Amino acid sequence: MSEVIIGIDLGTTNSEVAVVQDGKIIVIEDNHQKILPSFVGMSDSGEILVGEAAKNQYTLYPEHTIKSIKRQMGQDIKVSMGDKEYSPQEISAIILKRLKSIAENYLGHAVQKAVITVPAYFSDAQRQATREAGEIAGLEVVRMINEPTAAALSYEAQQQAHKKVLVYDLGGGTFDVSVVSIEDDVVEVLASHGNNQLGGDDFDNKIVEYIVEHLEDKHDLDISESPKVMARIARAAEKAKRALSDDPFIKLEEEYLCEKEGTPIHLSLELSRIDYESLIEDYIDETLEAVHIALKGAELTVSNIDEVLLVGGSTRTPMINDRLYQEFGVEPHKEINPDLCVATGAAIQAAMIAGQSIGSVLVDITPYTFGTSVVGELNGEYCHDRFAPIIHKNSSLPISKTEAFCTMFDGQKEVEVIIFQGEDPDALNNIKIDEFIVEGLSDAPAGNVITIQLTLDLNGILQVSAQEKATGLEKSITINNALSDYEETDLEQAKQRINALFNDDEKEVFDAEDEEHHEIIKATALLEKAKRQMEEASDEDKEDMVDLIEQINDAIKAEDFETLSTTTEELADILYYLDE
Ligand code: AMP
Repeated sequence: MSEVIIGIDLGTTNSEVAVVQDGKIIVIEDNHQKILPSFVGMSDSGEILVGEAAKNQYTLYPEHTIKSIKRQMGQDIKVSMGDKEYSPQEISAIILKRLKSIAENYLGHAVQKAVITVPAYFSDAQRQATREAGEIAGLEVVRMINEPTAAALSYEAQQQAHKKVLVYDLGGGTFDVSVVSIEDDVVEVLASHGNNQLGGDDFDNKIVEYIVEHLEDKHDLDISESPKVMARIARAAEKAKRALSDDPFIKLEEEYLCEKEGTPIHLSLELSRIDYESLIEDYIDETLEAVHIALKGAELTVSNIDEVLLVGGSTRTPMINDRLYQEFGVEPHKEINPDLCVATGAAIQAAMIAGQSIGSVLVDITPYTFGTSVVGELNGEYCHDRFAPIIHKNSSLPISKTEAFCTMFDGQKEVEVIIFQGEDPDALNNIKIDEFIVEGLSDAPAGNVITIQLTLDLNGILQVSAQEKATGLEKSITINNALSDYEETDLEQAKQRINALFNDDEKEVFDAEDEEHHEIIKATALLEKAKRQMEEASDEDKEDMVDLIEQINDAIKAEDFETLSTTTEELADILYYLDE
């Protein structure tokens, strides 16, 4: 039997150890946890704490705890923990020693050799320090590989590929983007860029600021000087951030947060994904600038990139997936757990060196995107069938995602939910897999929020539920075979139906009902435009516009298409002159 070499991702925030066994790649658990927080601490009784236990004491005893030591690797400094001083190598060695013993416990024998990953930008001194940390921990570092190379190996373990891949890695405290070239089994980093002070912790801090401001405004309370309260808020913020990756709204609730003049203060605050995204938008913009710098460094452009790989826990933020999709026009790969794919890549490299055979990293994913249709802009025109993805292709299963949508009209009593499978921005080019109507909505103005939740399990069972957010009114359906490859004929039929719309001889498919629907869509688009341009209008025009908006809304409700047609024309005229 060949000697086992373990693969280690020694991260700034978290670390993991993985191994290939019988061709299978296994990230080894310790206490049911695959992730070991990269924290080292000293307990009151002088005992060394590593991982979760050290992380837990960090807020209360920062002087006894060390985090993010990776940032100091390669520097000739000492860090203090309790009453002693340590080199960065020594602290990293404590983490490595723990990972080594986790692996030994699992394997049942001693381990001497490891492959350790390092950021592509690490200098010689930083790499040397990592090697020394391994030695102190009793590990021979048989190879150090770049983190993006490891991530690429996780995705490409079995394939004989010729590809250019972009690895976007956003963790808790660091961001790196690398352009990687894969030529058969030679994986090479062509260029790398990033910011080693940017990550999910910054996103948490934005939510913390948001809460602190809320407490100031609502309760005239300054909690910034109270470490215990701030620690609770920081925890709540991180939890909220994670939840916002799956849900469009979350409620931040903390009972008995503190007291003010003898009265207990509870935190109860809603945060929407849209508002959260505006809080972190500048950070995301910065990462995209770095993407372009890395591309330039590799002398490539967006169109040369075949695949985008997401690495690091923070890439679960949907906005990151969406922005990269917009930028590259390909759905980013996220099927391998982004927290673990550097460790699995290290294990694959280790197995290659040890001469073991390797299977691919097996994960269950959805090969399709699922979503619904909405009124929106498509190719510069308003249409009522723009595809709105909810679960994206390449997501690992099981998965549950919720998105928020709005009613279009005042007093709208029902919404039609149609579920599609496919990738095309025009929902009609995708495959319709089911539909239902939610009736009995409350009498609310346009903009009444309806959330749609899709939950897809390993057996391809898709649960769809739509809920009126304000009242909780809900309707659900179950689709039993959502992952089956829908018959080619369905797709063919959809294509023919669409093509027919462009074929003069078959124009009759555009029947009266379509025509009326079209009028409503046109009117809705115009109403939105009118509301946007209201500010620019003169007082007189404004009055006319308000009047017409009301008449149009009434005509839609009454399904009076004659009035709808004349009033939309009048409104269009006013907007035309405003545009001039
Ligand atoms: P890493 O350093 O790669 O382990 O990533 C850790 C970071 O990922 C932390 O900032 C986490 O809060 C963040 N993270 C983990 N899960 C999620 C999630 N579901 N949505 C957004 N961020 C997440």
